[in-house]
Amino acid sequence: MVDVVVVGAGPVGLMVAFELARLGVQPVVLEALPAPSLEPKANGIVGCAVPLLHSRGSYAPLGGRGRVPRPAPRFMYGGFPLDLRRLPDNPVYVLPVPQRRLEAVLAASAGVPVRRGHTVSGIAPDASGVTVSVEGPSGAYSLRCAYLVGCDGAHSLVRKAAGIGFPGVSDDGVVSRSAHVVLPRRALTRFTGRLRGPGGPYRPYLFHRTPHGVFSFARFGSGPHLLTTLEWGGSVDETVPMRVGELRSSLRRVLGVEVAFGAPPAAGGPYVLRRSTARQNRVASSYAAGRVLLAGDAAHVVAGFGGPLLNLGLLDAVDLAARLRRGDVSGYDAARRPFAERVLASSAEQSALLAPGPEVDAARSLFAASLRTEAGLRRVADTIAGG
Ligand SMILES: Cc1cc2nc3c(=O)[nH]c(=O)nc-3n(C[C@H](O)[C@H](O)[C@H](O)COP(=O)(O)OP(=O)(O)OC[C@H]3O[C@@H](n4cnc5c(N)ncnc54)[C@H](O)[C@@H]3O)c2cc1C
Repeated sequence: MVDVVVVGAGPVGLMVAFELARLGVQPVVLEALPAPSLEPKANGIVGCAVPLLHSRGSYAPLGGRGRVPRPAPRFMYGGFPLDLRRLPDNPVYVLPVPQRRLEAVLAASAGVPVRRGHTVSGIAPDASGVTVSVEGPSGAYSLRCAYLVGCDGAHSLVRKAAGIGFPGVSDDGVVSRSAHVVLPRRALTRFTGRLRGPGGPYRPYLFHRTPHGVFSFARFGSGPHLLTTLEWGGSVDETVPMRVGELRSSLRRVLGVEVAFGAPPAAGGPYVLRRSTARQNRVASSYAAGRVLLAGDAAHVVAGFGGPLLNLGLLDAVDLAARLRRGDVSGYDAARRPFAERVLASSAEQSALLAPGPEVDAARSLFAASLRTEAGLRRVADTIAGG
């Protein structure tokens, strides 16, 4: 009998393993992929997880600047730039780090071997533990554990097999397109790297709302820019694969001017090239069903603005590992699910604030007034920081 089996060696499963190992529990980690994924995903962690990672000795290995993390002077919310220096105890921390590096650092620090190429195909929970069915490289086998932690992502088999619902909405009125692109030098201002265009120049790392949609662009490290557009309404032929040219047309509609960007050279990839017509906003109906627990994207997916998901998932992992160590997970759902519900609500609020239309203009002017107060700014900063 194993104490804990963790399903999934994404950032959250690895953080659960890291924390358990730190507390003296050796879990078994099962991961379907034979090697770490190269898919480009998160570019950074935003929130309380940053100082927490520092307390675990992982800040410097993750590329954190300075001896200790410092609160971010600026961030954004709903397309509004936030001057967080106005808050006496600003809680917002930002650590730019590619997800691949986060996973590599957590895997190395945990020191827990990951069983790669081991796919969980079924679970049978009972009062004293969980029997896990696994398809491994040498064939099928089963494992018995006291607790099973599903960190197996948004399509979580563990969540479904445990009969836990995943209620929420698909934001299907919005088409989101993202790609890494090479912006021509003449499109950017010389020293500040702002994007030229009508009503601009536009700052990087912010969502910009125009009468026709939203766009953002940002550069992480020395690579190409990551450009994103959001458009409300309109139909998309899902059978046509996404191309950089489609994003160029979308930016032309949103910004009102053609920007002659191209795809980066394939050699430096893989790069982001995505279109989404159904942004998911869902939180598991419970994070626990007896001895089966959920953390990370298995428990919540949010069409997040500003990257809230890693923060949520890493903090789930830390909370859950401490409870597993004590052998009492009864308070986990009540402790962690409200944070995901709050991120879900803030995502809906930001989506509503970014939508086009004169009624949104009016709502935005009221929201701007609330941000000018310390209490309004604090509410938004606390939401971004998570807990
Ligand atoms: C393009 C993109 C950009 C993003 N940017 C950001 C950002 O800037 N900031 C941010 O906070 N978040 C961002 N996110 C979200 C972030 O990537 C996810 O929240 C994060 O990956 C969740 O980690 P996880 O460990 O919960 O799940 P995952 O990373 O999905 O890992 C789940 C793991 O479980 C494994 N698995 C699945 N099923 C099984 C099974 N049956 N048996 C064994 N193993 C299994 C999978 O192979 C996978 O390795 C981004 C996502 C995308 C797609």
